[in-house]
Amino acid sequence: MSKTAESVWNNCLAFIEDNITSQAYKTWFEPIKAVKLSDNALSIQVPSKFFYEWLEEHYVKILKVALTKELGATAKLVYIIRMENTYGNKQPFTEKIPSANRSNLQSQNVDVPLKNKSPELKNPFIIPGIRNVKIESQLNPNYNFDSFLEGESNRLARSAGLAVANKPGGTSFNPLLIFGGVGLGKTHLGHAIGVDIKDKYPEKTVLYISAEKFTQQYIESVKKNNRNDFIHFYQIIDVLIVDDIQLLSGKAGTQDVFFHIFNHLHQNGKQVILTSDKAPVDMIDIEQRLLSRFKWGLSAELNHPDYDTRVAIIKNKLYRDGVEMPDDIVEFLANNIKTNIRELEGAIISLIAHSSFNRKEITIELARKIVDNYVKHTKREVSIDYIQKVVSDYFQMDVDTLQSKTRKRHIVQARQLAMFFAKKFTKASLASIGSQIGQRDHATVLHACKTVDNLSSTDKQFRKYVEDLSKKLTL
Ligand code: ADP
Ligand code: MG
Repeated sequence: MSKTAESVWNNCLAFIEDNITSQAYKTWFEPIKAVKLSDNALSIQVPSKFFYEWLEEHYVKILKVALTKELGATAKLVYIIRMENTYGNKQPFTEKIPSANRSNLQSQNVDVPLKNKSPELKNPFIIPGIRNVKIESQLNPNYNFDSFLEGESNRLARSAGLAVANKPGGTSFNPLLIFGGVGLGKTHLGHAIGVDIKDKYPEKTVLYISAEKFTQQYIESVKKNNRNDFIHFYQIIDVLIVDDIQLLSGKAGTQDVFFHIFNHLHQNGKQVILTSDKAPVDMIDIEQRLLSRFKWGLSAELNHPDYDTRVAIIKNKLYRDGVEMPDDIVEFLANNIKTNIRELEGAIISLIAHSSFNRKEITIELARKIVDNYVKHTKREVSIDYIQKVVSDYFQMDVDTLQSKTRKRHIVQARQLAMFFAKKFTKASLASIGSQIGQRDHATVLHACKTVDNLSSTDKQFRKYVEDLSKKLTL
């Protein structure tokens, strides 16, 4: 009986099945199809280049033994790499590859068919000199660690980023997922990691890409029928930074392709850095298998920066731009733009522009107008800190004095006014107002409010205080 590709392969399979774990057999051998037997060469079809690499690395010996048994010493094995649109349920990524050196792929002793394959299949190995193609990192050098100020709100993410930059692919932070609200520094930190890696390991291929652009490229590759090239391009990256991964939600095709690229990189000890405006648990319309990958490494959140960090960020920006700004304006900005560093920067730029175009000094009034433009939609809420600042400035004392235990009349009055305005302009409870204004209790705040009411209807001078302060606080 003459041998067919199928009969030869089935015999090989029987031999292999006896010699490896059933999990490995299922994963790596069941998906293979024997397609051709000619000149003592068996052609088998594998689902991806990665699959082929894996077989070559882990099973080449057993394949050789099996095939030699069937076809003799001159037996040859030919791989045909087939990239399916979907991979069905077979995920050939159940084991972890020790990060192996794959740099000499081309020289492996394998026959890769250059002709003889269906014309729509592009052979990944004929992309000329792909390893020599210089890949632009798309990194913004200004987004580096030096310009990314540290604070309580970003400490975890920042130090994880540094750890990854020191040892890309060599920490358990793989992938590193940085998540947090809009304008909190995800993109900046993503770049900073890439910039630092490029600095320390110039030979590494680093690529920053937004998930949006990745999606466009993918769609384009499907249109142009070169999806394989697209995948292979991403598979040779050492450090892949994908920004705003939440944008993949609902895009099944892109998620699928990303899943495979991710697995390939991860299995090869390559570093993946992702950012998202949501925590993994809150991502919707992202496939479970992809989500579970995101959770393999570390998810680090960027929180809203605290007051001190906001002040530091503003001062740093002013310093880098060579601009001077009075401290009270810096404090005003830090007090009024809290949840978005991009808005904070926008307000600074706008303030500088206004003052230089109109040759005006930077004043609190100007700052206030600009903040109102920047913090849109949400009516600017006056904070208790800000009220205390305005009241103490008005009476030419500092906030510590205003909060102190002294019974001096003008200080008591200032404190009572601060409490009165805190009640009037914020949603804070009496107790919370008391605790923020010198550790007083709610009864003290209530008493202060009544006193201010009384005095402003009986004392002309006092009424003027209330009116002036009211104006300052609502301007
Ligand atoms: P996101 O991607 O989270 O929306 P970005 O990374 O674009 O936010 O950050 C918005 C702006 O805030 C950028 O100009 C960035 O440089 C700045 N920024 C964010 N975090 C910091 C920080 N810790 N120190 C200095 N600048 C920061
Ligand atoms: Mg961003």
